[in-house]
Amino acid sequence: MEGFSCDLHIHSTLSPCGDLEMSPRNIVSKAKELGLDIIAISDHNMTENSFYAHELGEKSGVLVLFGMELQTEEEVHVLAVFDSFETAFLFQKTVYDLLPPVKNDPDFFGDQVVVDGNDRIVRFEDRLLLNSAQISITAAVSWIKSHGGLAIPCHIDSPTFSVISQLGYVPEGIPFDALEIRDIKNAHALAPLILQRHVPFVTFSDAHYLQDIGRRTTRLDLGEPSCKGIERALKALGDNDGNLSGCTSTKETTRYDG
Ligand SMILES: [Zn+2]
Ligand SMILES: [Zn+2]
Repeated sequence: MEGFSCDLHIHSTLSPCGDLEMSPRNIVSKAKELGLDIIAISDHNMTENSFYAHELGEKSGVLVLFGMELQTEEEVHVLAVFDSFETAFLFQKTVYDLLPPVKNDPDFFGDQVVVDGNDRIVRFEDRLLLNSAQISITAAVSWIKSHGGLAIPCHIDSPTFSVISQLGYVPEGIPFDALEIRDIKNAHALAPLILQRHVPFVTFSDAHYLQDIGRRTTRLDLGEPSCKGIERALKALGDNDGNLSGCTSTKETTRYDG
């Protein structure tokens, strides 16, 4: 077993709220500079930029998984992370068809840009991505798990777009791999609202700006660096009663993270 430093919640130029410096190339070089082992590009309801980041990661020794921060019909943000672009892209297509056909207003929300590994613009996404897909959290997690992905509700200690802010608690029976929390110090207060006893906490940066990448990471001992390896490691942590030892907060900022 080897320790891997993971930041699986990073936004790119494809998120309207992501800084335009968040190109796949800049993200991967920042991750490399910080010594992160595994990252995921997790844009709102889209995964496309992870394709380019993955290619760059292969050259620089950073494993880039294919992520998405899905917004369900309950307005809950859920991290979906896959090993293959094909599966992630299939999920993107599924989710895209479930998004309301509302056009993005770049002046209000920001541009949503697919950018390749050489910082060239591939296309602008027209549909507003900051919206809820018409899929329930239960159905979404079921899709993710049946396709070999990781399903992690985001920032459960956030007052907005979290499973606790929207449902009031973390329900039983949804097979989450972990619960993402921004501040581990909140874990104790939230414990009565978590009806699943053996799901560990993780923490990731939710970076929208380059300087925020890696500000929160989770170190995991993995047999293999893959979604399956991470799933196994998280299960082992959960069986140990939600061990928090993997969560590392390097620095905090007060910047808005949507
Ligand atoms: Zn996010
Ligand atoms: Zn979010």
